[in-house]
Amino acid sequence: MSNKVRVRFAPSPTGGLHLGGVRTVLYNYLFARHHGGEFVLRIEDTDQTRFVEGAEEYIYKCLEWCGLEPDESTKKGGPYAPYRQSERKHLYYQYAQQLVDKGYAYYAFDTPEELERRRSEMAKDGHAGTNFQYDATTRRQMRNSLSLSTAEVLELLDKNTPYVIRIKVPFGQTVTFTDMIRGEITFDTSLVDDKVLLKADGMPTYHLAVVVDDYLMKITHAFRGEEWLPSAPVHLLLWKYLGWEADMPQWAHLPLILKPDGNGKLSKRDGDRLGFPVFAMDWNDPKTGETTRGFKEIGFLPEAFVNMLAMLGWNPGKEQELFSLSELVQYFSIERVHKGGAKFDYEKAKWYNQQHIHHSSDEKLLPLVKPYIVAHAPAVDDTYLLKVIGLVKERCGLLPDFWEQGHFFFETPEIKELDAIKAKWDDNKRSFFNSWKENLSSVSDWEHTTIEQTFTDSLQQHGLKKGDIMLPLRIMLVGGKYGPGVFVIAEMIGKEETLKRIQNALSLL
Ligand code: GLU
Repeated sequence: MSNKVRVRFAPSPTGGLHLGGVRTVLYNYLFARHHGGEFVLRIEDTDQTRFVEGAEEYIYKCLEWCGLEPDESTKKGGPYAPYRQSERKHLYYQYAQQLVDKGYAYYAFDTPEELERRRSEMAKDGHAGTNFQYDATTRRQMRNSLSLSTAEVLELLDKNTPYVIRIKVPFGQTVTFTDMIRGEITFDTSLVDDKVLLKADGMPTYHLAVVVDDYLMKITHAFRGEEWLPSAPVHLLLWKYLGWEADMPQWAHLPLILKPDGNGKLSKRDGDRLGFPVFAMDWNDPKTGETTRGFKEIGFLPEAFVNMLAMLGWNPGKEQELFSLSELVQYFSIERVHKGGAKFDYEKAKWYNQQHIHHSSDEKLLPLVKPYIVAHAPAVDDTYLLKVIGLVKERCGLLPDFWEQGHFFFETPEIKELDAIKAKWDDNKRSFFNSWKENLSSVSDWEHTTIEQTFTDSLQQHGLKKGDIMLPLRIMLVGGKYGPGVFVIAEMIGKEETLKRIQNALSLL
């Protein structure tokens, strides 16, 4: 095995990229960068029945958005190209045949109908619920090169009878490997079925292709979801039977991302049900025409999304929770990835986003925030918007919040909380606002300190305290009980607009 760390993300392009998938990319990426290694993106599209138009392109877009770009891929090329398994079809047959020649695999001629019949017979025999398994206990009763005579096999091959190649999993043995996260894991081969390695159409299955490609692409470490653990014994046997054991990558099976209540794996349906995204970006399913919302479109910054994902299953071994991608590269270690599943917490995800928004420069946020503002107020000036961003960013958890939190900088708001003013309204307060308005009209340097000075002067004249007037004033200018400092708001919206809003409110009281 070469010393250079080489990892791979090997998605099957079958639909939207679940946050668990992005986390697998992320851990691959962090590990590779931390060790000065290479990160490969390999498209595992051997199952043509699951092919989905646009899914591959979508994966690239997600990785680009997250800033996790591979060093070698179908797009970038590289020394081990092609990186799309369907384009490597010609490579796999020889390995399957090699296994047959050595007695580790065999031809199986059973038709789909025959296999189906066996399954239903099993159910009839009172074994309902037990699935028929093609393995050491049943393979002799099936139509394959182990049960048929050589002459029969040759005749079938001669007639171009379709066949698959299956691995011959031994009965009553154990296979063991050391997972980087879970330690030593042993499997009883008696429980493993004779998986198909090469399909009738000549395409390899995932099991054969993943082993062959990890070998040919000189992968040193393979990180994949925990759901692949049951496939590990088949892969271990293949590494052994192909004579490549010494080159087998070190494996790490990453913990699942769980539903918020910890009850099972987080699915797209949970997101729909609980109102949060599960995919990295919007996914338009070409089959159903349905669009599923993504973290990007819901208003997450990629660095916040990545930071949140890094912490779902890994701990940095210190208090710090906020990390940039380069800090994650610096601190990441596979030893601190947890064995147990990580519960997804959407409120916490938004907290990461709010923190990253808060710590981003106004200039960086400008192009990200602008579309959300322009959708309501098309003629927005960048210098003005930059100031608004600086004033409201600490209150924003998601990018669309910039409009919610700052709309009154761009439009005369509807006064939603008039009742809160009315509750403590009296003639003295009305008189205060009327005389303050007069004073404001003659202010020439329209600047928050001057505005506040005239305010304090008018308060004194009316024997009022700041606390008596701040809330009504805020509601008049903003429409509700939120927003940054009122005098800064007045400065930003200008004298005419400030006077207009006060007057509007007075006429309603
Ligand atoms: N193609 C598999 C998937 O879709 C990859 C599993 C692996 O990384 O070995 O997740």
